[in-house]
Amino acid sequence: MPKLNLNRVEMPRQDPKERAHNFNEVALGYSEEQALEEANRCIQCPKRPCVDGCPVSVDIPDFIAALREGDMPKAVRALKGKNSLPGICGRVCPQESQCEEACTLNKRAAPVAIGRLERYVADWERTHPEELGGPDEPPPEPTGKRVAVVGSGPAGLTVAADLARLGHDVTMFEALHVAGGVLMYGIPEFRLPKDIVQGEVNYVKSLGVDLVLDAVIGKIDTIDELLGNGYDAVFLGTGAGLPMFMNLPGENLCGIYSANEFLTRTNLMKAYLYPEYDTPLGMGKRVAVIGGGNVAMDSARCALRLGAKEVYVVYRRSEAEMPARREEVENAMEEGIIFKFLTNPTGFLGDGRGWVSAMECIQMELGEPDDSGRRRPVPIAGSDFVIKVDTVVVALGTTPNPLIASTTPGLETTRRGTVVADESTGKTVKDCVWAGGDIVTGAATVISAMGAGKRAAADIDRFLKG
Ligand SMILES: Cc1cc2nc3c(=O)[nH]c(=O)nc-3n(C[C@H](O)[C@H](O)[C@H](O)COP(=O)(O)OP(=O)(O)OC[C@H]3O[C@@H](n4cnc5c(N)ncnc54)[C@H](O)[C@@H]3O)c2cc1C
Repeated sequence: MPKLNLNRVEMPRQDPKERAHNFNEVALGYSEEQALEEANRCIQCPKRPCVDGCPVSVDIPDFIAALREGDMPKAVRALKGKNSLPGICGRVCPQESQCEEACTLNKRAAPVAIGRLERYVADWERTHPEELGGPDEPPPEPTGKRVAVVGSGPAGLTVAADLARLGHDVTMFEALHVAGGVLMYGIPEFRLPKDIVQGEVNYVKSLGVDLVLDAVIGKIDTIDELLGNGYDAVFLGTGAGLPMFMNLPGENLCGIYSANEFLTRTNLMKAYLYPEYDTPLGMGKRVAVIGGGNVAMDSARCALRLGAKEVYVVYRRSEAEMPARREEVENAMEEGIIFKFLTNPTGFLGDGRGWVSAMECIQMELGEPDDSGRRRPVPIAGSDFVIKVDTVVVALGTTPNPLIASTTPGLETTRRGTVVADESTGKTVKDCVWAGGDIVTGAATVISAMGAGKRAAADIDRFLKG
C-alpha cells in the first residue's frame, strides 16, 4: 500500500499581484492528475464521518471512490444524489468546519480536500455534458400538487429541485431579474463565477421547475393569495437582505454604502464590467470596510479590484475571532488588503460638501467572553484616532426584509425579524407555509440554507401525500 501523503494537493490560484486587479476566478481548480492524487488520500473509512459533517449528507466517500475509479458519470450521480448545487458548494462552503473537519485524516494529517474534489467533479460535469449519458432515473409520476417557492437562493433552489424530483408541480418566484439570490448579487465573480450559478439554476429548471422572475411576492400576490390561487403549499426562502447600520454620527454622508448595495452594484449590476456596463459606483482611493465576515472580505476585495489604492478592513475584535472563512482572509491579505483589528468606528466626518472624508475610530481590547462565546471587545479610553477615507462599506450583517412578514397574517416572527419555523421540518405556525434558510436563521451559509431546504422539502412532500 502506498504511504499516505500527509499534505493535501494544493489547488493552483492566480498570482495575488495579478488577481488584485481582475475579477477572474482566484482559485483555478485541480487538473485530472491533481484530483486523482488527492482522491487517493481518502482512506474510505467505514464510519464515513465526513457524511455526518455535511449538512445535506452528501455521499462523499462514494463520489471520491468513483472519481478514482475514473468513472466520472458515477461520481456526478453520487454527488448530485444529495446536492443539486455542487459547483457552488465546492467553491464557497466552509468545508473546514464541516465535512473536512470531520474527516478521519484530520486527526493526524491534513484532511482530504473534499471541497476541491467536489468542485472538480461538478466542473467535469459542466464541461462534459455529452459523456453523462441519459437521465439516471425515469421522470416521476406527477402528483397533481402545486407548490410555490418564494425566493431562488440556495434554500429555494434546493426545495424546488427536491419537490420536482418527487413529482410535484413547482413554481419558483424571484423578486430580481435573475435567479440565484446572494450567489448572484452578493458573492463576487472572482469567488463564484456567475455562469456556474446559472448552470446550476438551469439544472433545477431542467427538473421541471417553473421560474417566474421580477415577481415580488407580498406586492404582486400575498402568500394567502398564492394559497387561494391553487397552490397547496408555500415555501418561504427570501433570505436576509436588509442591511444593518451602526447609527453613528455622519453615517448618512455620501460615499458610505451598505455592503448589500455596494456588492449588488458591483456584481448583479455589473459595475465591474465598466465601460461595457455603465453602472454608477463612486469608488474612492481610500476605502474602509467595516466588519469581519465573508461579506466584509468580498467588499474589500471588490473595492481593490475596482481601483481603490488602499483598502482597510476595520474589525473590532482580533484576527482569531473573525467569522470569515480562513482561506478568504488569507487571500485578502495576500492581495494587499490592510487589516485594522481591535478597531471600532465611532463616527464619520464630511468634506463640507456632503461626502465622507474620514472615519473616527477607537482602539479596543478583548475582555470577558460574551453570549457568543467570543471575548467581548472593550474600548480603550483615550485611544481615539482618525483614518482618512473617501468610501466606506458597512458589512455588519443583515436581517430579513419585513415585506413577507408584514403581508402574511398568522406568520410568527422573532424580534430580529426572522420567521419562526420548526428546525427539523421548516414548518411555520401558519397552515400550508414552510420557511428555511437565512429568513429563519438570519445571515448564515449556503449549505445551511440548502440543509433547511432539504428538510422542508421532505416535510412538504409528506404533507402533500397526506
Ligand atoms: C457577500 C456574501 C458572501 C457570502 N459568502 C458566503 C460563503 O463564502 N460561504 C457560504 O456558505 N455562505 C456565504 N454567504 C451566505 C450565503 O450566501 C447565504 O447564507 C445564503 O445565500 C442564504 O440562502 P437563502 O436561500 O436563504 O437566501 P438568499 O440567497 O438571500 O436568496 C433569497 C432570494 O429571495 C429573493 N426574494 C426576497 N424577497 C422576495 C420576495 N418578496 N419575493 C420574491 N423573491 C424574494 C431574493 O431576491 C433572493 O434572490 C455570503 C453572503 C454574502 C451576502
